[in-house]
Amino acid sequence: AAKAVGGSSFRRYDPGMGSGSLDPLLLGQELRLALARGELLLHYQPKVCARTGRLHGVEALVRWQHPERGLVSPGLFVPVAERFGLIGALGHWVLEEACRQAVAWREAGIACRVAVNVSPQQFRNPAMLSEVAEVIARSGMDPADLVCEITETALVESIGSTQRLLDALRAMGIGLSIDDFGTGYSSLAHLRAIPVQQLKIDKSFVDDIATSTDARALVEGIIQLAHALRLEVVAEGVETEAQWRTLQRAGCDVVQGYHIGRPMPADELRRWMAQRRVAPGAAVTAALPAA
Ligand code: C2E
Ligand code: MG
Ligand code: MG
Ligand code: MG
Repeated sequence: AAKAVGGSSFRRYDPGMGSGSLDPLLLGQELRLALARGELLLHYQPKVCARTGRLHGVEALVRWQHPERGLVSPGLFVPVAERFGLIGALGHWVLEEACRQAVAWREAGIACRVAVNVSPQQFRNPAMLSEVAEVIARSGMDPADLVCEITETALVESIGSTQRLLDALRAMGIGLSIDDFGTGYSSLAHLRAIPVQQLKIDKSFVDDIATSTDARALVEGIIQLAHALRLEVVAEGVETEAQWRTLQRAGCDVVQGYHIGRPMPADELRRWMAQRRVAPGAAVTAALPAA
């Protein structure tokens, strides 16, 4: 992994690269320019039905095609955007681009829900709701095709202030998903109060699931809890077939991870769909687990 980052010394995309050797202030200035110059792009990672393997939806993950640094990871520049007041503009661009792509897919006969990651700071913007409504209206997107992923930590930290916003998004028909579940400290009361439909089990719980009975018990417990609350369960970071099979047996609804498909540009995803024989129109929205 290219950890030492100096000037143009890395070109390969490396999600693990640290920010230690990069000056955040410089990166912030560059990011401001990048937004204006159109250097951001979205990759899409498939989510598939755990039982059938059919496409369930995709998650949009932002990347930065930096002229010298190559493809920069969101783990590096999203915190910079949050720190320098750029997350609103970044989030707006991501939403616009994801909606444009979703409409293009639908026109090509591929019905596919698209999830975007939403930073907690975006929820603090009072204009957020009207902005989302405007982007959706302008794009011609079906709001039911859009999902917002919000991390559990963000939800817990701002539950009081975001509750009304989440209710409003839900009322618009947008899906809500709790990302990285298990890494925050949400109480069962939170899970009941917020209008989410989906819960994503964090990769750290999935890692040992095929080899550790304790890890498996934990994931089985989360799945049962989620189903009791009529939530759909996604497991993220599935890297092996053994993990997928274990999750399937545990009753997990949807799986996502490198074993199924890496995040990729839209045209590559089309080829992935073709190879997987995801027929146009056959892409499914998995039914909610039985109450
Ligand atoms: P996340 O939303 O939890 O996304 C999952 C991350 O894990 C992605 O990293 C994805 O590429 C990676 N991943 C997926 N499957 C596997 C696997 O099987 N193994 C491993 N090792 N990793 C896997 P990525 O794309 O670097 O994104 C990192 C984080 O950056 C995301 O975590 C999300 O919190 C944030 N992010 C990404 N795009 C956006 C965006 O448009 N807006 C905001 N606010 N945050 C974003
Ligand atoms: Mg996510
Ligand atoms: Mg996640
Ligand atoms: Mg994560």
